[in-house]
Amino acid sequence: LTFRTFEMTQNSPSSEQQLAGNSPASRDIAFHMHPYTNPAMLGDAGPHIMAQGNGVFVVDDAGNQFYEGMSGLWCTSLGFSEPELIDAAMAQFKKLPFYHSFAGKTVNPAIDLAELLIANAPPAGGDSVMSKVFFAASGSEANDTAMKMVWYYNAALGRPEKRKIISRRKGYHGVTMAAASMTALAYAQDGFGLPLDFVKHTTAPDFYNGAKDGESEEDFASRCAAELETLILEEGPETVGALFAEPVMGAGGVIIPPRTYFEKIRAVLEKYDVLLVADEVICGFGRTGNMWGSQTMDVRPDMLTCAKALSSAYLPISAVMLSEKVYAPIAKQAEQLGIFGHGYTYSAHPVCAAVALRAQQLMQERDIVGHVRRIAPQFKSRIERLARFDFIGNLRAIGLIGAMEFAANRQTGEKFEPSQKIAAQAVAIIQKHGVILRALPGDIIGFCPPLIITAAEIDDMFDRIESGLDEFSALAAKLC
Ligand code: PLP
Repeated sequence: LTFRTFEMTQNSPSSEQQLAGNSPASRDIAFHMHPYTNPAMLGDAGPHIMAQGNGVFVVDDAGNQFYEGMSGLWCTSLGFSEPELIDAAMAQFKKLPFYHSFAGKTVNPAIDLAELLIANAPPAGGDSVMSKVFFAASGSEANDTAMKMVWYYNAALGRPEKRKIISRRKGYHGVTMAAASMTALAYAQDGFGLPLDFVKHTTAPDFYNGAKDGESEEDFASRCAAELETLILEEGPETVGALFAEPVMGAGGVIIPPRTYFEKIRAVLEKYDVLLVADEVICGFGRTGNMWGSQTMDVRPDMLTCAKALSSAYLPISAVMLSEKVYAPIAKQAEQLGIFGHGYTYSAHPVCAAVALRAQQLMQERDIVGHVRRIAPQFKSRIERLARFDFIGNLRAIGLIGAMEFAANRQTGEKFEPSQKIAAQAVAIIQKHGVILRALPGDIIGFCPPLIITAAEIDDMFDRIESGLDEFSALAAKLC
């Protein structure tokens, strides 16, 4: 046995790596390329190293405890230390740590999980019902898969040119090439030459920023639908395959659509035979006070993608749900071609499926959706109390997801200078008061705590957020 040794050739460590020293922070800066991170800022400030989780709290390597006010990335709905999920993983690891689902193979947790998801599925579009589940490992993969299924479906129906995809501005759908093309946010596209040309963007359902003077929510919803119809007609309805939409937009700023929005959007899509795909990656599994955001917002999708809280994010797993209307032609085409030629090594991974299954059972056993409904009014009223800060222009919440949006002038809605990065500065101060939140584009801070949060924890978390904003007030006054 021989070991390769480093020589000072092109494979040798960079000088930065040699100078790194031994602290975890310096080694992180030297060796770890972070997702969604400014490398220069990471180099200056260093990483924030998390060491432990406990219920709705995380603890860093210096022993500081924080409320995780965003459930990590909108995902750890059952908190950071659920023993039942750890036990479910260990039991499956010991039995069968990996198997695949190609060529008709499967495992029991995947069968049980697919059955449970279909039993709990939201109403589907038209006269159809959700009938099949396809598994992947991430939200992005689920959305890429759903897009390919839209193409396959239309090709099966003899109209292969019906493949353009529409998403809404400010929508977030992931970062793989197709998903990032649908993610209509500059930070996910700049520098990559995206979006790919078959993806088109339509109006965001953002009443606060998008409505014209005197326009009601219903009027604004009608205009969103009319603008969607104009886009479909401009592109040619025979070339448009699907609209992807989050029931409540998450990363784009927690945007709750105006009243009557989805019924008007659906009417346009039905008119031109365009499929509706609900991206439930954040909204799914209780977040909005129903099992699905599609129920809260009356979406009635033809397909649905979900991930994150499916396993409370303990292990990576995502799913695409197909209505029978979409599945039947796909199955027929696959039969003719001899195979449905799509799948991931980790589709229906047994340990991920076992953890997701237990997470979904716990949701039911503990009536997590009922808990969200009971606690949502308190969450909303604590968010609304933030109106006492005059640098806040808009506050919104539904279920256990919400946001505050900054305004330099509340009356006119005038924004702060983007270069002031007002939301990021507020997030940094609030973090000193013990709550981790996230700045979203457009000077917005999101709230998305684990669904298990108690009434006392909501109060304490918002007391801390208010203390942080009190401290931030002096800075905001200087910038207004
Ligand atoms: N869709 C939505 C609505 C999301 O919020 C996200 C991630 O935040 C994704 C898709 C992408 O999921 P992933 O990061 O697991 O690829």
